[in-house]
Amino acid sequence: MNDMTPTQAVPVLPDAQTVTEVTHWTDYLFSFRVTRPASLRFRSGEFVMIGLMGDPDPKTGKAKPILRAYSIASPAWDDELEFYSIKVQDGPLTSRLQHIKPGDQIILRPKPVGTLVHDALLPGKRLWLFSTGTGIAPFASLLREPETWEAYDEVILTHTCREVAELEYGRRLIEGLREDELIGELIGDKLRYYPTTTREESPKTGRITDLLRRGEVQADLGIDTIGPETDRAMVCGSLGFNLEIKEILEGYGLEEGANSEPKHYVVEKAFVG
Ligand SMILES: Cc1cc2nc3c(=O)[nH]c(=O)nc-3n(C[C@H](O)[C@H](O)[C@H](O)COP(=O)(O)OP(=O)(O)OC[C@H]3O[C@@H](n4cnc5c(N)ncnc54)[C@H](O)[C@@H]3O)c2cc1C
Repeated sequence: MNDMTPTQAVPVLPDAQTVTEVTHWTDYLFSFRVTRPASLRFRSGEFVMIGLMGDPDPKTGKAKPILRAYSIASPAWDDELEFYSIKVQDGPLTSRLQHIKPGDQIILRPKPVGTLVHDALLPGKRLWLFSTGTGIAPFASLLREPETWEAYDEVILTHTCREVAELEYGRRLIEGLREDELIGELIGDKLRYYPTTTREESPKTGRITDLLRRGEVQADLGIDTIGPETDRAMVCGSLGFNLEIKEILEGYGLEEGANSEPKHYVVEKAFVG
């Protein structure tokens, strides 16, 4: 008898990468790391499309991938890729993605793009990174990028969330940066971390836009003036937040840049909707 039974084809995801680590920060936030495709080159601050296979169509039996834009939270030099994610309970992707475990596979389309990159800014002295919620993800990449520390005398990360627990990923990131032997030395005393909360009391309560308009951020950090000669900014939050910060930055005389035309500030949406 022939025991050469045909081996069953194991379904393989297109552009599959393997999950290596998952950390749940709150009921609504988690981060995870995946293997990095050998051919993937990206600039710190860019985003890619990632996802999972959807359920098979009941009519055709065919499954389609559910893909969403995600900022790469790890720096360009890292062997793995890190992502920081929301859990939307009825979200097509994240209702499932929140259950991934080490060893599982996700889809990762290796075509990085984005405007939150050093190339889109003219040289300056002080870099502001304004984020809300998961908008800190591209800055988690840029803060671990040596170029950030070589290019600027001062880097200010603002992160605004509703509750204190939502700041934890960023707080740990900053702690890790300061403790890191290589990056820590590059950073020296250049890093200013400015976390704020809007729905729970914390050492600094309030929306960053209000705090900027009132001059409170500037007073807290000992900054006299913000202007195009010295300041550069990257912004990543909801559409409403981005529009408000843009208006404030334009008021300081800063102009919006792009990959094709570097200027004083750049903006990217942390999500659509
Ligand atoms: C350029 C870009 C980069 C992005 N990077 C990230 C990232 O690094 N991490 C991340 O978690 N998401 C990121 N997103 C959002 C992401 O693409 C998805 O929307 C998110 O993963 C939810 O997918 P979903 O299919 O579960 O729900 P969706 O149907 O995509 O979203 C459902 C609703 O949930 C809300 N929502 C979606 N994403 C967020 C969020 N991040 N924060 C708060 N509310 C949200 C919106 O109101 C949205 O209408 C990014 C989006 C863009 C455009």
